[in-house]
Amino acid sequence: MPQQYLVLDTTAFYAGVPYTNTTENLVTTPDVISEVSNERTRTLIALSKINVLQGTLANLKTVKDAARRTGDNSMTAADLSVLALCLSIREEGNEAILLSDDFAVENVASTLGIKARPLMTNGIKTASEWVFFCPACGKRYQKQRADCLVCGTRLEKRLKRN
Ligand SMILES: [Zn+2]
Repeated sequence: MPQQYLVLDTTAFYAGVPYTNTTENLVTTPDVISEVSNERTRTLIALSKINVLQGTLANLKTVKDAARRTGDNSMTAADLSVLALCLSIREEGNEAILLSDDFAVENVASTLGIKARPLMTNGIKTASEWVFFCPACGKRYQKQRADCLVCGTRLEKRLKRN
């Protein structure tokens, strides 16, 4: 019988969803683990039953090609690796659902036919509903961009509060 896997990308960890009380199959990749290197996320990983798996190189290439086609050039190794893992899980006859709040990751996932489930949102919101901020220096941006102009850290986003 096919199993369902929830594949966590870096934004899934930053969202701080409590993964400790779940019976679902949670998986992520070594690249995601090394990217989410702060204390809180490490603790989260330690407390959770998250398996660390790697997609095949062939699937990684498929993902890179898809990202190039859609013009999503800001994707990190971690972003690419979770998508490759989704494809590999699917190849084994199981179901992969990607947990992500990242526009680019969701976009490439949809072109590959990968099911994605957002964390903090109900589907992809328009950019105007988000604030973008630097997790390192705290600078906020009204418009989406990949990196912080001050320190070069990859920006994160959260929904504007009404
Ligand atoms: Zn910064």
